[in-house]
Amino acid sequence: MRGKIVVAPMGEIDFYQINKLASQLSAIFGSSVDILQGMRLPEEAFSERRGQYYSTVILAKLEILKSNDREKILGILDEDLYTPNSSNIIGEADRLGSVALISLYHLKQDFFAGGEEDRVVYHRLFKKAVQEVAYLFGLSYCHNPKCVMFRASGVLELDQLSDRFCDNCQRKLGW
Ligand SMILES: [Zn+2]
Repeated sequence: MRGKIVVAPMGEIDFYQINKLASQLSAIFGSSVDILQGMRLPEEAFSERRGQYYSTVILAKLEILKSNDREKILGILDEDLYTPNSSNIIGEADRLGSVALISLYHLKQDFFAGGEEDRVVYHRLFKKAVQEVAYLFGLSYCHNPKCVMFRASGVLELDQLSDRFCDNCQRKLGW
């Protein structure tokens, strides 16, 4: 039995998308998925100067929520994230702590492909979430451009990304 996945929406997040994501992650990883409710953004992670939230500080907060070592926590927030090395962050993960974080801030920008914006944003969130959770389960970036684990450096590359694992990555996940 795999460790449980816990999705932690932080701040004001569209619950329809969170519920949909949780059930898709459950099917893909064969894990049960819980959704935490009512999580507030940690104020101490906010930088007045940058107008952004320090991603690593939020990851540390999420780690405290774990009820056991096998649990994986995926935080999702609307606000813009930074680390000291980058002010352009879509997601960050800490495999040792089994926690990951995704910001919708950049996922809600740059619509060149057309299509309904909510659907485009959800699809980006879905692929990023699969990458982050797979990373917590031990996978790394994949060299196969047709694999969801292929490295995407921005939202437009994320749009081009496959939503499936290649055979190799599937095997690593242990199916
Ligand atoms: Zn792969």
